[in-house]
Amino acid sequence: MKIFKFGGASVKDADSVKNLAQVLKLFPADELIVVVSAMGKTTNALEKLAEDYYYTKGNSRQILSEVKKYHFDIVEQIFTDKTHAIYNEINNSFVELDWLIEGVPSQTFDHVYDQIVCMGEIISTKIVSAYLNTIGITNKWEDVRDYIKTDDTFREGVVNWELTESLSRSLLKRKQIIVTQGFIGGTSENYTTTLGREGSDYTAAILAYCTNAESVTIWKDVPGVLNADPKWFDDTQLIEQLSYLDAIELAYYGATVIHPKTIKPLQNKNIPLYVRSFINPEAKGTVISDAQLTLPVPCFIFKVNQVLLSISPKDFSFIVEQNLSDIFKLFADNGVKINTMQSTAISFSVCVNIHEHKTSQLVKKLQENYRVLYNDGLELITIRYYNQATIDRVTAGKKILLEVKSRYTVQLVVKNA
Ligand code: ASP
Ligand code: MG
Repeated sequence: MKIFKFGGASVKDADSVKNLAQVLKLFPADELIVVVSAMGKTTNALEKLAEDYYYTKGNSRQILSEVKKYHFDIVEQIFTDKTHAIYNEINNSFVELDWLIEGVPSQTFDHVYDQIVCMGEIISTKIVSAYLNTIGITNKWEDVRDYIKTDDTFREGVVNWELTESLSRSLLKRKQIIVTQGFIGGTSENYTTTLGREGSDYTAAILAYCTNAESVTIWKDVPGVLNADPKWFDDTQLIEQLSYLDAIELAYYGATVIHPKTIKPLQNKNIPLYVRSFINPEAKGTVISDAQLTLPVPCFIFKVNQVLLSISPKDFSFIVEQNLSDIFKLFADNGVKINTMQSTAISFSVCVNIHEHKTSQLVKKLQENYRVLYNDGLELITIRYYNQATIDRVTAGKKILLEVKSRYTVQLVVKNA
């Protein structure tokens, strides 16, 4: 079994869907699961729809009709036969969405969110599957919620690995391509859960783990894993081989090329992960495996909109275990994720993403017992396999407010000087 994953950008319009088919033709395989995300920016739109509906803002119908038009435009371009069953099928999915936003919501927001947002993947896979079948790439559409089972933590479903593994066994030996959704799972009561934004990579890894797949390929609009985001760097370098450990570290520190949860299940079964370009599918791209690499290149990860909080006890006492456990608990309770931190005798510094509401709530709480200095408009630069030259390069013209070094990784919180 092989797993291919195509993200939103690879199905964002009619030409992209056709291109996906060309990629499949280049790599014919019988035992193949094709995992597809929602088309283009559909998940963002459905997220807005869920908010609008839940908090009764009055724009739900408008948002829904835009999402519907976007999909039907694509359908009309790729299915010239207007009597094709897909027209009805997609229409039914929109009727279902319409029902979902009828009446007053009776569940939590997260629950409602998942039932609405999942439709992006359901619709995109129906379109892709039907299109492939019309051009002779015979395949079967499967509802991934029948295979990937989670608990009922809506918006962040926790996979029941044992059950998922046993259900996924029936996907083996099909001798026919399977087209299914990324990002979503099902609870024991058959509600839909989502696995966290950008979670389709993770779906590919779950299915690979559960079917003992030979490999996973993530098809992207970049040539593979680069040593920096071209958005911030002009001379990026393609990394042809990467170890699981490096991939986990890079994803953890914020490289957006792969979802951080993707690597561990693959590493556990030693399944290689390929990251390749759907624009240039013949190119080799990157392979992530257990290879021991001798000469890794320095990798750069940039995060903007960072805030540095410097926290010190009001009573001039030292920062000790008791304070730290207090402080960590407040971060956890307020859902604020720590990007990097450093502690000295009298103060504890933490770099977090600016998240106006959550952060200001946290600061208020901290201020009950601590003095909190707040510095915003910062950047966090992480370099894996750093040396002084790479540090100098990224900090030129900048003031370093915090520097945290370990053997292979340095994190720098900087401000424009
Ligand atoms: N469609 C989902 C999202 O945009 C999942 C994914 O693309 O991986 O978050
Ligand atoms: Mg996406």
